[in-house]
Amino acid sequence: MARHVARPAAPRSYRLEPEQARCPHCGGTARVAYHDRRTVATLDGPYALTLVVRLCREPTCPRYRRPYRPEEEGGWALPHGEFGLDVIALMGALRYGEHRSVPEIHRALVARGMAIAARSVTKLLYRYEELVALRLADQGRLAERLREQGQVILALDGLQPDVGHEVLWVLRDCLSGEILLARSLLGSTEAELVPLLREVAAALPVPMRGVISDGQESLRNAVRTALPGVPHQLCQFHYLREAAKVIVEADRHAKVLLKKAVRGVRPIERAREGRDDEAARAARGYCLAVRSALTDDGRPPLCASGLRLHERLTAIRASLDRVAEKGGSRKNPTASGSSSRAASPRPPTTGRPSAPPTPGSTGRRTCSRIAPGSRARRSAPTTKRYWGR
Ligand SMILES: [Zn+2]
Repeated sequence: MARHVARPAAPRSYRLEPEQARCPHCGGTARVAYHDRRTVATLDGPYALTLVVRLCREPTCPRYRRPYRPEEEGGWALPHGEFGLDVIALMGALRYGEHRSVPEIHRALVARGMAIAARSVTKLLYRYEELVALRLADQGRLAERLREQGQVILALDGLQPDVGHEVLWVLRDCLSGEILLARSLLGSTEAELVPLLREVAAALPVPMRGVISDGQESLRNAVRTALPGVPHQLCQFHYLREAAKVIVEADRHAKVLLKKAVRGVRPIERAREGRDDEAARAARGYCLAVRSALTDDGRPPLCASGLRLHERLTAIRASLDRVAEKGGSRKNPTASGSSSRAASPRPPTTGRPSAPPTPGSTGRRTCSRIAPGSRARRSAPTTKRYWGR
């Protein structure tokens, strides 16, 4: 959506002048020729900038009569840019750091009092990507940084988005986190990897002290051939993943069995569609809790998703047991509460059921991974028979 209101007037003004009074190219006279004005919207609000522009008066200078603008201008905004670099940086952080969508970023900026159109957010995100690409491609900066740390520990790994596609090889320095080289290759053979490693090693201004990768045979051979004498350590994550293979397999099998035990959530929900009484809302809350437990995947080997599912279902069942002890119904859920149909058939709510959450259900370790918003949904009667065996 385009901006509907005029850009607010800048309450603050700032005057920028060139660092030198003479031409930076030839050192000749460069008199003040004119003043330029621009408004830059920053996160602090808009600024009215007055720029002093000088022109070289030396006819033999290649910069003769070309504007010499204040150096500081580039730190405020991109040429012809309406928004400050700080705004672009914030957009990039929200987009790529917090994975926010363009409308979300737009809302966040408007909430900060910025007059900006959603379309401008999209355009400025392109500028952000260009600036990042420029910085990553700045070999001078990279060499300087590596020289400062005096050594490099190389990590390399191939990423294949789909089977049969090209493999994106990323060679990274573990100490600084800088990417040294990224290139797509058709395969991962030793013959393809050796030139890649040699290219990186040749471009480094400092010695390579070690290499980390997974244990792929072709990789190991490539490192041995291209980087003789450089210690090669296998990646600990890959190690752990290999070692945990048996456990992960068993866990996956357990999850399949557990899932079978909690089938039938949908019929329970369907039976309560259009009802707004307490029992129906509570039952829907439980169904939602089961549903979210089923879709909560862990990341092997660091988290066993079968065990996690077991923990969450145990917590739900414990909650149901507590409700039953307090006098709730343990009967067939489809029978309970069916006599009290709500007068107004509102769509099923996923919010907090009106039955009070049972104390203690939030303090259990098994519950601690569940988002606070979903906790309240797990504390009310019915639906037990679907996994209670
Ligand atoms: Zn000059």
